[in-house]
Formats: sequence, structure tokens, C-alpha cells
Amino acid sequence: MGQTTQAVIDRYDRYVMGTYVRSPLAFAKGKGSRVWDVEGREYLDLFPGWGVSGLGHNHPFVMRAIRSQAGRLIHLSNTYYHPLQWRAAKALVDVSFDGKVFFCNSGAEAVEGAIKLVRRWGNGRHEMIVMEQSFHGRTMGALSATGQPKHQEGFEPLLPGFVRVPYGDLEAIRAAVTSKTCAVLLEPIQGEGGLRIGSGPFLQGVRRLCDEQKLLLIADEVQTGMGRTGTMFAYQQSGIEPDVMLLAKTLGGGFPIGAIVAKRAVADVLTPGTHATTYGGSPLGCACILAVFEAIEREELLGRVNTLSPYIMKRLAEMQQRHAFIREVRGRGFMIGIELSLDGRPLVEACRAKRVLINCTQGRVLRLLPAMTITKAQLERGLSVLEEVFDQCRVTS
Ligand SMILES: *Cc1c(COP(=O)(O)O)cnc(C)c1O
Repeated sequence: MGQTTQAVIDRYDRYVMGTYVRSPLAFAKGKGSRVWDVEGREYLDLFPGWGVSGLGHNHPFVMRAIRSQAGRLIHLSNTYYHPLQWRAAKALVDVSFDGKVFFCNSGAEAVEGAIKLVRRWGNGRHEMIVMEQSFHGRTMGALSATGQPKHQEGFEPLLPGFVRVPYGDLEAIRAAVTSKTCAVLLEPIQGEGGLRIGSGPFLQGVRRLCDEQKLLLIADEVQTGMGRTGTMFAYQQSGIEPDVMLLAKTLGGGFPIGAIVAKRAVADVLTPGTHATTYGGSPLGCACILAVFEAIEREELLGRVNTLSPYIMKRLAEMQQRHAFIREVRGRGFMIGIELSLDGRPLVEACRAKRVLINCTQGRVLRLLPAMTITKAQLERGLSVLEEVFDQCRVTS
């Protein structure tokens, strides 16, 4: 590739804003769950694209869709109609609930749109109840909705109108409702917040409360959506339906695209001229969404996730048996957290040294978001590396 990792890092230091905590790795190529660095070393990626590459890197269907659509029409302004946009919208509605879709370009942008949507729907009521430890993105509205002060420091004043309650605490939500409340925003499983799973009774209780109080329930499925948890959307596992659902990450199979799906009556409050985004729902982006759906269906990826997930959980449970510092292993489908009683970051580095990429969130929760296309052999290799790293950890701790 002509450049060493260090040379790439040096150029970043000079030319790219230092907004990210980065690992000292520079990648040039990816395929499925494998990535190759600029010096040709191969890594196994158990956290592809921070959840974006849910089909793995460069899924053939997505590549084919991009190549063929790029030859026809890459972008079209929303002044006009394009047949792929309704198809992508219908594909989403067909697997969720009867509603309509607004396309945007990222998770944060979906959250921003939802804030506008529910405020308009609220017609004077504007408060949203949000969860502690939540993560909804970095733009000002999404940041204000986020329940982690560490992300907000230095950026005040935030957008007003967000009332924060502990995740999982239905009574706290009930107590937070005022005559100004219009919606409850939550992740069915908190990703960045430490892989915290909203229980069925909690989510059902929130649904009932929203119905009683005439509030909209907004599910942020940016990380959990599109099959990651073993069902197309995580909310489906608790037998409820949100009024609004937010998507991004895996939705475009690597191509940046986000979406708001809202029940029909709610969606209709955004009348012409009330909301827009120039790139939203481009033919290229919509072709990617359709390719992702095609892959999930044709490769039976939900079935794969549901078959392989118990195997991962079993292996991790065995590791937990042997190591007291593994406090809890939890997850749904291919969204897995390993909570430790010690700092997880050195373990991420130890895995990296063995050429396996994982993540750590909230300091102590190792997070795996493997691609739904990962092979059993790849999973096995990743888990053995994790096991070795845990075993070494016992020796040194
Ligand atoms: C990643 C994420 C977002 C923000 O998405 P961006 O595309 O980075 O703006 C919002 N909500 C959840 C739950 C996420 O995981």
C-alpha cells in the first residue's frame, strides 16, 4: 500500500482533527469479518464499523448495488421522485409497523428529525423523557438528548426540554411526565451506555404509560436495528411497537444513511417544507438499503444470528466461570457485552496484539458486535483469542 502505519498516523496528526480516540492501526481493505492493515497484516474484526458493517465489510450485494446504481444515478434532489426511495421505505415499513419513512444520513440526524417530529406532533408539549447513560449522537439536539454528561461538557447551553431518568425505571418515567411531555426516547438495548438491556416488562410498561398519557414512544434502534439482536428490530422481542423508530448504522451496509420510521398519523405532521436534508434518500443510499434487506433475507442472517449467538454466550459463560473479574455476560443476538470488574481497555489492546478487534465501552464493558455474516470458524478464533487474553489477565492481576 506504499505507506507504513506510522506514516499514516503522522499525517493524521498534521491534517485531521483530533476528535477521536484512535487505535494505532491503519486499514486498507476489508472483506466480511476480515480487515487488512496498510502493511498487509490481517485482523479479525468483531466490531466492524462500530456497528455499521453489520453485514461485514464490503458485502457483495452492497458492492453490486453501489456499482450498478452509481452507473445510473448517484444523487437526486428530493424535489423529484425516484422509484428506489419508495421501495426502501416500503421495505422498512413491511418489517416494522404501518408508517412512513423519512431518510437522512446518520443516526444523529435521525434523532434530530425525531425531535422536530415529536415537538410538532406535541403541538405545544415539547418535553422528552430520555434515559441516563443513553447515547443518541453528537449534534446539538441529539447530544442534549444523550444521558451522558461526559459528552456534553463544554457544549452548554444544551437544547432544553429533555428530562433524564434512570434506564429501566418505569416509575421514574411516570413521575417525570408533566403537562409538557410529548415523548419518551429510549434504546431497547443501550449500546454505548454499557450494553444494558431493557427488560420486556420495562418496555411494555413504557408502552402502556405512553398510551395512557398520550406520549409518543421513540425507539432509537440505530445500533440494535436491522437484525443485530436476532430480530429485525430489538423492540420486537418485547412484543411492543414504538410510534417512531430511528435507524442508521447497519441500515446502509456501510453507506451512510439513516431513517425515521413513524406511524402514519405521526408522520403526517411533517408537512411539505417542515423538514429536509439534501442528501436524504439518494438513489445510491436506497439501493444500499435494498441490498441489505436482500442479504438479510437471502443469506438467512437472522437465523444465523440466532443459531450462533447461543454458542457465543455459552463460550463466554464458561470463561466467566473461570474468571471472577468477569462480572456479567449479557446480550441479544450479536450484540454482546462482557462486564468486567477491571479496566477493559488493556484487554482490547491485548486482543489487538493478537489481531482481533473488539471494543470497550463505559471503561469496563467489552463489546462485541460481530458481522451477521461471520463464520463459525472466525467466531471460534475470536473467542479463543478472548479466552487467552482473559487467561493472561488472571496471571498478571
Ligand atoms: C451510533 C448511535 C447514534 C448516532 O449515530 P451517528 O450516525 O454516529 O450520528 C445514535 N443512537 C445510537 C443508539 C447509536 O448507537
